Amino acid sequence: MGNPKAFLTINRKEAGYRPVLERIEDFGEVEQTLNTEDRMLQASRCMDCGVPFCHWACPVSNAMPEWQDALYRGKWQDAYEILSRTNNFPEFTGRVCPALCEKSCVLNLQGVPVTIRENEAAIVERAFLEGYVKPHPPRVRTGKKVAVVGSGPAGLAAADMLNRKGHSVTVFEKDELPGGLLRLGIPDFKLNKKIVGRRIRLLEAEGVVFQNNIEVGKDITTHDLLKNFHALCLCIGAGTPRDLPVEGRELKGIHFALQLLRQQNRLVRGTDIPSEERIHVENKHVLVIGGGDTGSDCVGASIRRKAASVTQIEILPMPPEHQNPHTPWPLYPNVLKTSSSHQEGCTRRWALATQRFVGENGQLAGVEVVDTQTGAAELIPADLAFLSMGFVHPVHEGLADQLGVLYDARGNIAVTTDSRTSVDKVFVAGDAQMGAALVVRAIDSGRRAAQAIHIYL
Ligand SMILES: Cc1cc2nc3c(=O)[nH]c(=O)nc-3n(C[C@H](O)[C@H](O)[C@H](O)COP(=O)(O)OP(=O)(O)OC[C@H]3O[C@@H](n4cnc5c(N)ncnc54)[C@H](O)[C@@H]3O)c2cc1C
Repeated sequence: MGNPKAFLTINRKEAGYRPVLERIEDFGEVEQTLNTEDRMLQASRCMDCGVPFCHWACPVSNAMPEWQDALYRGKWQDAYEILSRTNNFPEFTGRVCPALCEKSCVLNLQGVPVTIRENEAAIVERAFLEGYVKPHPPRVRTGKKVAVVGSGPAGLAAADMLNRKGHSVTVFEKDELPGGLLRLGIPDFKLNKKIVGRRIRLLEAEGVVFQNNIEVGKDITTHDLLKNFHALCLCIGAGTPRDLPVEGRELKGIHFALQLLRQQNRLVRGTDIPSEERIHVENKHVLVIGGGDTGSDCVGASIRRKAASVTQIEILPMPPEHQNPHTPWPLYPNVLKTSSSHQEGCTRRWALATQRFVGENGQLAGVEVVDTQTGAAELIPADLAFLSMGFVHPVHEGLADQLGVLYDARGNIAVTTDSRTSVDKVFVAGDAQMGAALVVRAIDSGRRAAQAIHIYL
């Protein structure tokens, strides 16, 4: 702890976002960066608490006080090394993590936690810039082969850890490029896809093999995988979105959130999508149903696509703005979250349940909602509705059903012990096991599965 009094004298300073009028014209990352001096000063605010609640709250158990101290002292490489011991991909979490650590930071009792997430991003970006993130292929190969199915953060973390142990890892991915929701879910304005590509190239240089455009269970049978690999790790995500089967659901203009977001990420990459397949958002009145992060991403995407208006509705009442007595510190607070997308010009409403979709000539024209507190019904005009009400469980058809894995009560792939499924040789990690969660939880889960597979092998 370099400066024991810094938390008294130095204020929390966030890098902030680019100006709204500038950022809504492009899909570049909205978050800015601090200069080196300010960044180091921010790290000095860490109090090196006797009980580091930040560390306790972090799913990958990042050693925050240690790398804040190294950062404050200008030992960037040391900071990176400490950080990368527990987190395979700080460049992802440093951008998109809701920073459970900051919510538990003791300074958050005053609402001014250490800027842990931004510090993390700064450390890893400096590490890439200065060239000390280098491929470290294993010196010895064990002769064991592992197939990882799915290349989201869980699959990538599992592949990375298994490869480091010397096992030969092949990652199968049904989409055209690896990354899972990092690539085809989270918008570019939160996570530039070059960052994803940079990590994939590093993993390839270390010996991980990626086979894209292969849907296991369809393009390649599970029988073949079980025959050709010593172990399988299922990291297929929670791919079944929650639907809203009310009157009018069949109308044109109603899409799942990921239909928009996947298409948008492809458009940003320059993929040619025929006009008839595109969701045309321009000059449309957009209603986002679901008040969470996925919904917020639809808001940001729609605003950049020049929607005439964007409204986001949520079935639950508006949470308290600052503190919630039901989730006191150091728990993750259930309070109002205002994302960069919300700041860009959207109407947010709460306690509204969707009753039916109303259309004209087969096309959505409005959504009838009812206020869950007063019972009042209302019609919200809308040309497009994006269903962003979460995900129920992984896709069962194909791979999972073919393997015959058991599911838990929520339909996720059940774990017997240590990431093992009910089928011999088959392990599971990430959203497919936990239900839709967070990037940092997926990384943690992938790391655990890799350790279990290593012991099994
Ligand atoms: C729009 C959106 C925004 C989000 N934003 C954030 C955020 O800001 N911060 C955060 O922490 N979390 C965020 N999340 C959650 C986070 O992205 C997920 O929790 C995380 O990606 C889960 O990782 P995963 O590896 O388990 O699965 P995924 O990332 O879903 O990856 C699963 C992969 O498996 C592939 N696959 C599935 N079946 C097969 C098959 N049969 N054969 C081959 N491949 C297959 C899929 O194509 C996919 O690439 C967001 C989620 C969404 C939907």
